[in-house]
Amino acid sequence: MKIGCPKEIKPQEFRVGMTPNAAREAVAHGHEVLIETGAGRGAGFEDTDYTDAGARIADTAQEVFATADMIVKVKEPQAPERKMLREGQVLFTYLHLAPDPEQTHDLLASGCTAIAYETVTDDRGGLPLLAPMSEVAGRLAPQCGAWALQKANGGSGVLMGGVPGVRPANVVIIGGGVVGTAAARVASGMGANVTVLDRSVPRLSYLDDVFMGRLTTQYSDQAAIAELLARADMVVGAVLIPGAAAPKLVTRDQLALMKPGSVLVDVAIDQGGCFETSRPTTHQDPVYEVDGIVHYCVANMPGAVARTSTIALGNATMPFMLALADKGWQQACADDPHLLNGLNVHAGKLTYYAVGKALGIDV
Ligand code: NAD
Repeated sequence: MKIGCPKEIKPQEFRVGMTPNAAREAVAHGHEVLIETGAGRGAGFEDTDYTDAGARIADTAQEVFATADMIVKVKEPQAPERKMLREGQVLFTYLHLAPDPEQTHDLLASGCTAIAYETVTDDRGGLPLLAPMSEVAGRLAPQCGAWALQKANGGSGVLMGGVPGVRPANVVIIGGGVVGTAAARVASGMGANVTVLDRSVPRLSYLDDVFMGRLTTQYSDQAAIAELLARADMVVGAVLIPGAAAPKLVTRDQLALMKPGSVLVDVAIDQGGCFETSRPTTHQDPVYEVDGIVHYCVANMPGAVARTSTIALGNATMPFMLALADKGWQQACADDPHLLNGLNVHAGKLTYYAVGKALGIDV
């Protein structure tokens, strides 16, 4: 099969759909790999890294789209890319179609077969192609929050780990899933006092077990949140209710409970945010202040560490990419119901129920 990987064109997207290692594996499986020139540069991969792996370099995205049987990307195809997709071509990337009718209609019109990373599942009910980005965002959250706590960035001037004789920062993490657990690991590694809240008691038990006394767990209700806000130096919002907007768990009035210069890091901002005063920010201008509280609400946090994120995503997508290339998408999806769950569009038809329901299109 001919596998093509174009350079991402969405603003501020530095990741790339295929690493040189993924290209090498695909070539070893007997496939041809075509990478657009410069596609890997934002993630620290030069064209020569790909040619050393046996891939060929294309001068333009047009050449990649015209040649490849399967396109492997990171972000949903942008309008100019959608025009280049064709009938029978497989597209393997993040799509997030439910809030995006324009993209959905273009994909349907193209006749391509689109498999979305975000709906591929695993045996444990997880989303294996979303989890690596949650791991990255979770680990980044205390790092970004620690930066925001510094005086020059508007924060209260509290050091995460304290020093001997001075207490460390109190970090409260609301939501103990993939993001929350990763955030807890880093915050506790930095020496902070960490409390994790969740609505799932089994999840709190799990955290209690694995962290062995290095953090406190608490059931997430309004009283617990209000009590913890008064002591917190940093609050990380990491909740998810699948298929729904994030619940607003801290109101604007409650900011008055917090110490001036404390920091809210709203990782759930991509689902609307879990603090009433959150609005999306960018890596260029990541923080703003409301009532003396610093807010960090970057919607694509993994983009800040494009190299780590690219490799993490590539590790997770590689087995699926190879199965699609080796067997063809029909057989690969017939053999693996989890990959089949990724199928969102085929030959002008929507094939994913939740997207159809959200957009009012028959599935
Ligand atoms: P997850 O499903 O693994 O975990 C979510 C957790 O929230 C679950 O344990 C659930 O029980 C808990 N929860 C639900 N309601 C709660 C409540 N009221 N109080 C406390 N806990 C509650 O999800 P995840 O992968 O950790 O993702 C968390 C959020 O981070 C999502 O909104 C996701 O979209 C977002 N995210 C953002 C970025 C970014 O760049 N900003 C990157 C990755 C993920």
